[in-house]
Amino acid sequence: MDIKLYNTFSRTIETFKPQKAGRVSMYQCGPTVYDTPHIGNYRTFVMDDLIRRVFEYNGYEVDQVMNVTDVDDKTIRRSREEGTPLHELTSRYEKLFVSGLEALEILPPKHLLRATENIGAMVELISDLLAKGAAYKADDGVYMDISKVAGYGQLAHIDSGRISKERISNDEYDKENAHDFALWKFKTDEGSDAVWEAPFGAGRPGWHIECSAMSMKALGPTLDLHTGGMDLIFPHHTNEIAQSETATGKPFANYWMHGGFMTIKEEKMAKSKNNFLKLEDLESERISPLAFRYWLLTAHYRSPIDFTLEAVKSAQNALIRLMSVIGIQPEGGKAIQAYKDRFLGFVNDDLNTPKAVALTWELLKDGSQPDADKRATILDFDRVFGLRLASGPRFHASPADIPAEITALAEAREEARRTKDWKKADALRSEIESRGFRISDKPKGYSLEPA
Ligand SMILES: [Zn+2]
Repeated sequence: MDIKLYNTFSRTIETFKPQKAGRVSMYQCGPTVYDTPHIGNYRTFVMDDLIRRVFEYNGYEVDQVMNVTDVDDKTIRRSREEGTPLHELTSRYEKLFVSGLEALEILPPKHLLRATENIGAMVELISDLLAKGAAYKADDGVYMDISKVAGYGQLAHIDSGRISKERISNDEYDKENAHDFALWKFKTDEGSDAVWEAPFGAGRPGWHIECSAMSMKALGPTLDLHTGGMDLIFPHHTNEIAQSETATGKPFANYWMHGGFMTIKEEKMAKSKNNFLKLEDLESERISPLAFRYWLLTAHYRSPIDFTLEAVKSAQNALIRLMSVIGIQPEGGKAIQAYKDRFLGFVNDDLNTPKAVALTWELLKDGSQPDADKRATILDFDRVFGLRLASGPRFHASPADIPAEITALAEAREEARRTKDWKKADALRSEIESRGFRISDKPKGYSLEPA
């Protein structure tokens, strides 16, 4: 079945066509390791993981590369503020970032490339741009001359009226105007630990050149797919295209996918706004990282998602129910093809995970299917969801502090009642009561409380 993806470049849904049959080369912008990531950052990485899993579910081999920005304005600033050597600072935050990936069941990218270990490729690329006359030396660094770049700003729809003649040396700059930007920044102080020799002068790379150099070194001049958060469309991805295409004369990426923001009280979650939460903040609210992941799956990756504790807690309750039901279904079934086909139809439709999640609940309620087959089908879906459904609940607490095994018994009783197996339902009620809980039937479902 075709995979359809929204390509930011064309602003349309397109059918994915790889350069090599059965393989996808995918580059995702990784973290800047100067601080603890917030949950809005992790949303983008969950999206990248879902894209990879959907390709793999379709039988593709995915050559997935993620970079680690371990030298840029932010990391250098922080290392100076703290008085910590750059490498010590960045390896601390890289470890923290990777532990977050593990907690969120994000598959490790096949290649994790650190900027500081690939300076040679950046120097080569900058030399090439200088030789082609698309870059020039100024007193504080080497700059990209964007007036030499045909079609500059197409990805971000920057019109020529917004192209300024000024230069800018900061890695991040305002969204209104395009400027000549720094490819390389010359050494400014003695004793800095972020200095590398280069034929055009000692210094360090700008942020944008890092991704162009590392992605092409690992995956070749044209990537199948480049991803990132929407805030990277301009200037970062726009500048990656300018650098790479000017150097190679080939298209840099055939597809661009960008994830929506996470907001909190309708405002973008950001370090600069100080309105962010970390994974550990969720854990102190007794919310599992996997419940957070489930919550993300219930929204489309391009839509903004507004964080509230209530929303994530209710996602956690749903996930506990799902794990509990699956936990008591018999093993040994086989995946139901009709449901698999519908699932594939949803995830291949520009990653429509909300519909795929809804289908899971629809299947659980389908009385015409054997439980063992339902279980096998949902565990098959979990290759994309990544919710560790086979392992059963692993939460610090169930809703209202009802232990998960009690919820599981109650779910089994619901199922028995639905199939009118009254004997089994009564036996399960007795078991729940013998463990110190009371179950009461409600017009829709039931409630549980300590007896
Ligand atoms: Zn990047």
